[in-house]
Amino acid sequence: MHQAPGIDHRRIFGIETEYGVSLTGGDGACSAGQVAMAMFHRLVEQHRSTNIYLSNGARLYLDVGSHPEYATAEALTPMDALEQDLAGERIMADLAREACSVLADMLGPGVTVHVFKNNVDAQGHSFGCHENYLLRRQVPLDVVKEQLVPFLVTRQLFAGAGRLGEAGYQLSQRADFLDEAVSSATTRARPMVNTRDEPHADPDRYRRLHVILGDSNRSQTVTWLKLATTHLVLSLIEEEVLSGRPHGFGACALANPGEAMRATSRDMTGRASLDMEGGRVMSALDIQRRYWEGCRAYVDELGDQADTVLPMADEALGLWRSALDALDDGHWEALASWVDWAAKLRLLNAEAARDADIFKARRLDLDYHDVAAGRSYGALVDHGMMDTLVDVNRIREAVRRPPQTTRARLRGDFVSKAEATALSWSCDWTHLVVKGTHRHEVTLMDPFACDPDESYRALSEELDRERTRQDSV
Ligand code: ATP
Ligand code: MG
Ligand code: MG
Repeated sequence: MHQAPGIDHRRIFGIETEYGVSLTGGDGACSAGQVAMAMFHRLVEQHRSTNIYLSNGARLYLDVGSHPEYATAEALTPMDALEQDLAGERIMADLAREACSVLADMLGPGVTVHVFKNNVDAQGHSFGCHENYLLRRQVPLDVVKEQLVPFLVTRQLFAGAGRLGEAGYQLSQRADFLDEAVSSATTRARPMVNTRDEPHADPDRYRRLHVILGDSNRSQTVTWLKLATTHLVLSLIEEEVLSGRPHGFGACALANPGEAMRATSRDMTGRASLDMEGGRVMSALDIQRRYWEGCRAYVDELGDQADTVLPMADEALGLWRSALDALDDGHWEALASWVDWAAKLRLLNAEAARDADIFKARRLDLDYHDVAAGRSYGALVDHGMMDTLVDVNRIREAVRRPPQTTRARLRGDFVSKAEATALSWSCDWTHLVVKGTHRHEVTLMDPFACDPDESYRALSEELDRERTRQDSV
């Protein structure tokens, strides 16, 4: 995306995905923690750490507990972010394969490691998929709460990953585990948007909006569309704050976002009444249509500049609209080729017609999310029943190659070079450090800057010299 005249609309996107792990087969018990450690076995030997940055610019880590996490490198478009997220799935599947051979030594052959891209485990613990959006600092957080949260709460109509819950089938995996709309705490209260102020960029200009209410998606279309639509809504919110262009989203402020999230999750029709601030009611579909209309008008106004704000904006608006229309007509099945909750519900219904065993249904609900050993999602794709957006070769490439249009490019190239030397090095989102003959540190404060500056070149040359020296001994 290029800079449009007027307001700078460029955004940085990043997706953090926590995965659930488990093991079947083999003789003897093995905890999820042990499975996760087996996945990180080789990486710990190589790096002496369970917190690693990769040559594609991403961060791969294992916090306390048993949920490996992959945080994508900074992406400039929703499509780039999707590719990086899919690279993460592939990396997890590869780690699962390695873990199988480590664990087979302990537990005997026949062990299978499962890696779930979902948000609830068998014990009912919830884990997250965080979306990160660069946002102009001038936008106050209470404006985010009032104007963005209603969109996020109701977008589960198309973005929900579906869950066989206690009270039947729900659209969202996360809805039952969230309460406050906007908060800095993540453990005590479970907010929808975390306000911890860590922009990984110039704090005077930017925030990093940390959205934690969303489900992890298998559907490539949905991962792309949820970022694309959220980006359009954020762009309009920025427009109003910065240039006074009204968008009217204030009319969608929810009286109780937590309740609205749960009510929407339990209503496949999209028509349940949600309490609005000021005493009115609206349905999730009504709210989504408001946002859609605002975004449609905005993209129309941009005309041939629309591409500078969002590549494929028309496609995004068309898909979004088709989801709302299908639900309005009572035809959720029309969404089964690209909306996770609908795809999974179709599978569950087909299974129930054969066999009403609830345990089989629960297994199927999990299998859909298993990126390592799952069969159902892959079978849908193979049979042309699930749409995809990214060619497998591009996914393979994204495992090694960072996005080329953000600072991730510099970090990724740095990691590739540093790994090929025996020097001690480290990095994070904003720093690169090498300890050679002297210590080099480069700061990458601007996430949009993708070209080497003088200090980066000096560090890069130091790594090249070291490589040549190593090769010659
Ligand atoms: P936690 O896992 O504790 O929630 P966190 O959310 O602070 O940690 P990471 O897991 O390290 O952070 O992930 C950070 C994510 O933010 C990455 O996907 C990264 O690409 C993205 N990101 C980095 N800088 C920016 C930025 N300036 N604006 C938006 N996203 C960013
Ligand atoms: Mg994280
Ligand atoms: Mg996070």
